[in-house]
Amino acid sequence: MATKKVREQAHKVLKDSFGYDAFRPMQEEIICALMDGKDAFVLMPTGGGKSLCYQIPAMMRPGTGIVVSPLISLMKDQVDALNACGVKAAYYNSSLKAADAKEVLERFESGDLDMLYVAPERLLSKVFLAKLQKLELSMFAIDEAHCVSQWGHDFRPEYVRLGELREIFPDVPMLALTATADEHTREDISERLKLEKAQRFTASFDRPNIRYLVAEKRQPLTQILQFLESWQNCSGVIYCLSRKRVEDLAVNLQRHGIRAAAYHAGIPGRSREKVQDDFLRDRVKVIVATIAFGMGVDKPNVRFVIHHDIPKSIESYYQETGRAGRDGLESEALMLYGSGDVNLVRRLIENVENIDQRRVEVHKLNSMVGFSEALTCRRRVLLGYFGEALDEPCGNCDVCLDPPKTYDATELAVAALQCVREVKGHFGMGYIIDVLRGSNNARIKENKHDKIKSHGAGADINADEWTSILRQMVHHGYFMQDVSKRAAMLATKKAEFIGAGEPIILAKYQPGIRRQFKRLGMARDELLFKKLVALREELGEKEDVPPHVVFNDVTLTEMSQRKPDNDKAMRLISGVGEHKLEAYGDAFIALIKKHGDSKASKKAKDDSKDIPMLIAKGPGLNETQTYTLALYRKGLTLAENAAQQGVSETTVLKHYVTIIRAGQYLDVPAYIGKDFETVMNELTDADPYASLSEIKSDLSVDLNNEEFRLVLAWREAIGVA
Ligand code: ADP
Ligand code: ZN
Repeated sequence: MATKKVREQAHKVLKDSFGYDAFRPMQEEIICALMDGKDAFVLMPTGGGKSLCYQIPAMMRPGTGIVVSPLISLMKDQVDALNACGVKAAYYNSSLKAADAKEVLERFESGDLDMLYVAPERLLSKVFLAKLQKLELSMFAIDEAHCVSQWGHDFRPEYVRLGELREIFPDVPMLALTATADEHTREDISERLKLEKAQRFTASFDRPNIRYLVAEKRQPLTQILQFLESWQNCSGVIYCLSRKRVEDLAVNLQRHGIRAAAYHAGIPGRSREKVQDDFLRDRVKVIVATIAFGMGVDKPNVRFVIHHDIPKSIESYYQETGRAGRDGLESEALMLYGSGDVNLVRRLIENVENIDQRRVEVHKLNSMVGFSEALTCRRRVLLGYFGEALDEPCGNCDVCLDPPKTYDATELAVAALQCVREVKGHFGMGYIIDVLRGSNNARIKENKHDKIKSHGAGADINADEWTSILRQMVHHGYFMQDVSKRAAMLATKKAEFIGAGEPIILAKYQPGIRRQFKRLGMARDELLFKKLVALREELGEKEDVPPHVVFNDVTLTEMSQRKPDNDKAMRLISGVGEHKLEAYGDAFIALIKKHGDSKASKKAKDDSKDIPMLIAKGPGLNETQTYTLALYRKGLTLAENAAQQGVSETTVLKHYVTIIRAGQYLDVPAYIGKDFETVMNELTDADPYASLSEIKSDLSVDLNNEEFRLVLAWREAIGVA
């Protein structure tokens, strides 16, 4: 068992080198297992914080840690980031010039490196293995371990031989890490890497900071432009099914002034690298890509992922949306869902020769369709697919935030059925809708369908709404689309029940992206944040590293909130370790001070004195708020609650406010203590025309903003406000 001393040391490394105050779930246990010399298999979602799990023990244990990573570009990023924290790390791969490679090897052999990143084919070369056997190794870490499995989404043949390591180096602890949520792949990894006996660490695969949104695809370009409006100047990825769509969309976005670039396997390697690099360095904001744009994107501040077309499986959807929000800040995943795309993918699958594989793919696609059409919490469907249960609806997906309304559509269904029967099975959805809406186009006339009963029976309903109705009827099994006859609509056996008693309940058609809910603002000084971003870009440029290597968005957000103007305060910001404080502290402190003296900032401060009016009652609690409530119910104090989650007390207090507003009980009188009654009485007597900030400053009791809001929420909850 790792001793208390080992744990303390690990915390010290976490704070001094990386600038973080607390471990994320499981990190500490994993580090302890490695410190004990054990093998570990880590299953953690993207953004869960896998890297620290091997970086910290590699720094603490004697010898060098060998990190296997599949992509050369990723190695460089990781090593840049580590060096920026003052960690002795290097990489050894084919991108190095001979002289540099020699220098790296010399450092390695003289024991000067805590970590060496190596590509698998290099590692397993005879010469290199022989070298390794003579040196002291602290561990092997196999990052992106799913690359070893053919079942995974990113098989790499050069990974297969990594299984040999376990035999050649029986005494060196080995750690495999992956974000794959697919059980089949996981088993395969553990077998191939000979890690059956390794201790397994499985984290929840929920990504609470990603908001899942699905919208019916109508005019994709307009829909996407509308969506991008709320993510101006933010980075994101848009996935399309084909190269052609990628190129068209990229050009269209550029025409609308968006810094977008196309990325797919048909673009020459050199240009693709450039696109990737420009994205990483924030020169390009939006990447439009086929699935080929994948693992190379280790960018923490991707704020949104859009699926222009339906992905082929829930696994791909999860993987691709998972590229958003690695830094833990709010992000959105939007999918545009169109049945035409589903048919396109179905046709692609029909070309698969192996029958078993075809069956698997059809099943996977059907699950994806099910997810897209779900009228229940998306996160629940998503996690449920991977065998993880969610007790409560998530409160952070389109269905939870704006539940679809249902209505009795029996009359319309009867009309649709009649029309489908009358045209006798040779016509697709568009044609049926034209007939129902009473069109007199040439084709309808020619077929004499302007004479049938159902012609014009649904003229008062627009085409989009009809599409939604007919699609739902297909999904519910009343109609089917005959793929062999250009998706002609046919009535099924089930259709006989239409109009025969049970009402047909459908979801009400809602135009537009269902996103009329409030954006959860990050409450930071936006002006200062922008200045900090600019400074980071400048420093990154100077040192030739991606800007986020200097400081990531979480760190800059915290700086813009807390405005540290000396070393001591700066040290308290998450992500500011000793090395970065030394390197960048002065520049950022100077900027923050200068900003504090500026006119604009004074004005902003005056504005912020006004405590914002309470917003309407929220929809429910998100994951972190639920966790806060659970800890509160366990009896943790405010400070303990904050420490447990590695967040500030202010954040926890904010959660408390939300919790009360969501109608959950939290003992505010006990929390405020002996002054509670006084505050309540003074609030009742307060001048009804005074602003909240005036009321607050008139109180005889000193409350901070959050405490004050807590009391207000309480008054509202008990119905006196
Ligand atoms: P993964 O490899 O699992 O996708 P990373 O290791 O890249 O995740 O970590 C994601 C982000 O979270 C990084 O920006 C990292 O610095 C940050 N992070 C990791 N552990 C912690 C922690 N204990 N406290 C704060 N931030 C952390
Ligand atoms: Zn939900």
